[in-house]
Amino acid sequence: MPGAPPPAAVEFAWDRSINALAEIGTHRLDLYAASLKSELGRYEMMPSIVARQESVRALLGAMPDPAAGLLQTVNTYLDAVNHEAGSVAVDVIDQHGLVIAASNWNRPESFVGTNVSYRPYFQDALAHGAGRFFGIGTNTGMPGLYFASAVRDAGGPIGVTAVKVSVDALESAWRTPGEASMVIDANGVIVISTIPAWKFTALRPITAEQQHRIQASRQYAGRSVEALPYRRLDDWGTSAWFARFPDWAHPGHERRYLAMSRTAPQAGDSILVLLDIAGARHQQQIALAFVTGAFLIVGLYCLYAIQRRRAIAEKLKAQDTLRSANDRLEITVRERTAALTQANERMRQEIVERTRAEQLLRDSQQEVVHAGKLAVLGQMAAGLTHELNQPLVAIKTLCENAVTFFERNQPAPAIGNLQRISRLVDSMAVLTSELKTFARKPDFERVAVSLNEAVTHAVLIYEARIRDEHVQLDVLIPAGTTICAEPSQLQQVIVNLLGNALDAVAGQTERIISIEASRNEQPGRVLFSVSDSGPGIAPEVLSHLFEPFVTTKPRGHGLGLGLAITSRLVNGFGARIFAANRPDGGAQFTIEFSETTAQETANGR
Ligand code: ADP
Repeated sequence: MPGAPPPAAVEFAWDRSINALAEIGTHRLDLYAASLKSELGRYEMMPSIVARQESVRALLGAMPDPAAGLLQTVNTYLDAVNHEAGSVAVDVIDQHGLVIAASNWNRPESFVGTNVSYRPYFQDALAHGAGRFFGIGTNTGMPGLYFASAVRDAGGPIGVTAVKVSVDALESAWRTPGEASMVIDANGVIVISTIPAWKFTALRPITAEQQHRIQASRQYAGRSVEALPYRRLDDWGTSAWFARFPDWAHPGHERRYLAMSRTAPQAGDSILVLLDIAGARHQQQIALAFVTGAFLIVGLYCLYAIQRRRAIAEKLKAQDTLRSANDRLEITVRERTAALTQANERMRQEIVERTRAEQLLRDSQQEVVHAGKLAVLGQMAAGLTHELNQPLVAIKTLCENAVTFFERNQPAPAIGNLQRISRLVDSMAVLTSELKTFARKPDFERVAVSLNEAVTHAVLIYEARIRDEHVQLDVLIPAGTTICAEPSQLQQVIVNLLGNALDAVAGQTERIISIEASRNEQPGRVLFSVSDSGPGIAPEVLSHLFEPFVTTKPRGHGLGLGLAITSRLVNGFGARIFAANRPDGGAQFTIEFSETTAQETANGR
């Protein structure tokens, strides 16, 4: 914000204006003094000229009884002189103060017959030869300047001549707007004034003695002289001062003026000029407004410059902040990108490793499955040998008998033997084909498989053992139950469970194996179970039954892979396997399969 304008600039404007005004005042005083001198000087000598007039002297000499003709001559003379000079009136006064002749002898305002001995101009003229004063005509009531001169003869003064001059012309010539000009007499009373209301007011207190004298001389037509409410303020240089006067333009108000005065050409009087300082104040206000405006502009410009500089600084700071934020961001992005790249790389390697591990696992799983199969095959080998040996022995016996029957020419029993041989071969073929299917590496295509068919094929594998060991096998599977599985794997699962059940019941007095299936409460699920009347699952293996190489069987009889393979295959079908000991003895293995729909069944085997 710009501060207050320095007073010096405004003071300068003020000084300049007041100095200019003072210069005008000086001119006015010069002019008014000159005009006063020339105007009044014209009349100053007039009374003494009139006093030298023979008829006037004769008239005064003839007093108190002059001839009527002489009086008329003097009156006429005075009227002519008055007219010629442009004065108000010219009077001839005898030595007692009685007006005996006058220019206006024939008019009502005439002083003829009036005694003016109390008038100072008369007294001064009589005493000193000449007199002069400002006064108001007692008859006319008009203010004017009186000049008087004594009329003498050899014996001394015999009378006085007086000339009254109007100051109206002066006043109107001096009247200038914004100014008041006046002449102040020796009493301090304003006798000439361009402000009519101020005339015959005093600029200084009138003492009682002065008041008395004024009253006695009737100088101001008997009026009491009031003081003009005026206050002198501070000086301006040596010739001027400020003063508070009534505002002539606005009665009832006061106003400050620049006052200047000088002594008037006539002794004891002075001329006073009052100059309205409104113009100077106006100049001062203009200067103030200009300075204020200039300061405001400068201030605004400074403000603008400061704001601009601040805005630029802030902009630069913001740019810096943005740049460093960008840099930080770039660094962070670079770091994060590097971390991400590393993480990606690690993840990629992990994926590769996992893929490799999965592949390895799959391979080894398949290998394990295959190995399990081979193990089962190994176990089955003895049984198979026995199984195949029996029909082979039977076939050999039947062949030999058939040859004997043909030699005896008994074709019918021979043909019967051949037919039995053919059936035995068929059953052997079935055995071997099942073995082939089992040994094949699994594929993973899941289809709808009939549970009954899968169980039948599995049972076929153990048919001889079931029969030889006198095991009671109860199969209770609702017709048409199909589940979602890979057929050969499903067969292997059932073979494993059935094999374990046969192992469990072996040596038991009661040897019962139940294979059952039922629909679960949950729609679309089938519960398949293999239960036996064996001793049940040993408690030490129950919790980790499905882990590889967990077995309670003697060396050479069990690898502990059967249930591990079974569990993985079952999981591969999207099914789940559970093992538990039944409350009434024996073990029970349950698989929860997904049931396939009729449509899937149609597409399946
Ligand atoms: P293995 O038959 O070679 O031992 P498995 O994985 O098939 O391997 O079986 C692991 C073990 O589970 C068996 O050794 C046995 O202790 C137990 N087991 C499996 N089935 C039965 C069952 N039906 N009754 C009692 N125990 C069983």
